[in-house]
Amino acid sequence: MLLQKLSYLTPKASQEEIDNILKLYGMASKHAIPTNFKEVDEEWMATRCLMRMYSPTYMWWSRIKLEDKKYDADMHFFGFYDGTGFAMYHDYNNKRMRYFSFAGCIHEFRQPTKEECDAHHDHPGRCYHVSICDKCGYWKSVDTSD
Ligand SMILES: [Zn+2]
Repeated sequence: MLLQKLSYLTPKASQEEIDNILKLYGMASKHAIPTNFKEVDEEWMATRCLMRMYSPTYMWWSRIKLEDKKYDADMHFFGFYDGTGFAMYHDYNNKRMRYFSFAGCIHEFRQPTKEECDAHHDHPGRCYHVSICDKCGYWKSVDTSD
């Protein structure tokens, strides 16, 4: 696995940095498949993938076993800041792309309490929305104004 951002910005990423990234995507090791890994279609890529709005935070490459392939597949992974991501497989023999999604956490968001907002120094406003995932603690804030 190549942690491109870390290897580019910091030539020697610490084990703690690598462990945090593995935890973010729910990976037991750097050669493991991220959790909640499943094949998606082009419609999912066009409508649900965060790539519509954000650039991936991390990119890596790994060779994994797909159930319907005789040989291991060379897969490119793109992980976002919130622990979700997608992977692309160039199916050369069938002349097509295949896409997969993954998520370190299937977030369940709720509106945080005033005390939680105080602790995060982040409060909702007119077009500013904040939410928290109780499963992983991910804090999300979105400004929907123009
Ligand atoms: Zn979560």
